[in-house]
Amino acid sequence: MHIALIAHDGKKADMVSFVLQNMKWIDAAELYTTSTTGKHMTDAGLTVNRVLSGPQGGDAQIAAMVATGKIDIVIFFRDPLDKHPHEPDVQMLMRICDVHNVPLATNRAAAELILKGLAKQ
Ligand code: PGA
Repeated sequence: MHIALIAHDGKKADMVSFVLQNMKWIDAAELYTTSTTGKHMTDAGLTVNRVLSGPQGGDAQIAAMVATGKIDIVIFFRDPLDKHPHEPDVQMLMRICDVHNVPLATNRAAAELILKGLAKQ
């Protein structure tokens, strides 16, 4: 299982706490993150594969991995209360998930439901 984890700045602490609280589901997965999200993860002791930072094209890299079948789940904690220069890339990533029928969670509640669904498989 390959899981992409991305969090806007206002949601990075929430992402780290989400991953730590759900380690029993996430532990066996290979994790891919955008750069700054990944830095927060490694600081918390997690092992992740980092791509570029979101504003530098990291979301586009994750989208390419989704399109080529290398990512099974995308968890993207978006901050709806802030502006982002790379919003077109964010929209593109969400579209690519829909094109390829890859589960996408954009908030913690949805991410928890996806992981619970995984546990039942
Ligand atoms: P970051 O990118 O993890 O490098 O901050 C996330 C994003 O804003 O898309």
